[in-house]
Amino acid sequence: MRLGILGGTFDPIHFGHLRIAEDASYRFALDTVLFVVNQVSPFKVGETTTPALLRAALTQAAIADNPAFSYWGGELERPGPSFTVETLREIAAHFPDSERYFLTGTDAVRDIAKWREPETCLALAQFVAYYRPGVSEAVAREGIPNHLEPKIAFVPIHGLDISSTEIRTCVAQHHTIRYLVPDPVIALIEKHELYRMVE
Ligand code: ATP
Ligand code: MG
Repeated sequence: MRLGILGGTFDPIHFGHLRIAEDASYRFALDTVLFVVNQVSPFKVGETTTPALLRAALTQAAIADNPAFSYWGGELERPGPSFTVETLREIAAHFPDSERYFLTGTDAVRDIAKWREPETCLALAQFVAYYRPGVSEAVAREGIPNHLEPKIAFVPIHGLDISSTEIRTCVAQHHTIRYLVPDPVIALIEKHELYRMVE
């Protein structure tokens, strides 16, 4: 089984996330892409985020229409911070014969040296770094220690310049977020009155 794994805070999930998952699904002929919602990102400890179960609901709503995408709730069953190495161990144990592709943006992979057990992470999955506007491949590579660099594949896609931060700000300013996130996600954001206040 060929598995993609896309971890994130998804506060909220947007078309930038969905687009890299879609690209990977075709590029690597994946059977499914697992969307893994953080309990708490190790890089966002102390920052206010939407409750994890709500972020999970947004994520499930966003992927519901795509049979090639699935939801993996493992990080919500552990207390935070959510370390990728633990998630990869769990997924590898659950799908022992899987070939795993861990999808990230260039901004996230640039900091891989600060992750818990980066070598183990790279042994448990093929890391794929998607170009994200604002962080070039060259800049991302500068942050990656030499011995880890050969294990990371860079994908030079055109890149969608969308971030969850931008979406939260738009909502707080009563600006439209249509065409940045799927419509069912907008409906849930409205229903739960999320992001009305900027941090
Ligand atoms: P925030 O602004 O709150 O940090 P975000 O848009 O960066 O949100 P995250 O949940 O932090 O979203 O990102 C999860 C993963 O998706 C990370 O690996 C990140 O690099 C990647 N990612 C997010 N947005 C994009 C994008 N537009 N293009 C490529 N990768 C992206
Ligand atoms: Mg981010």
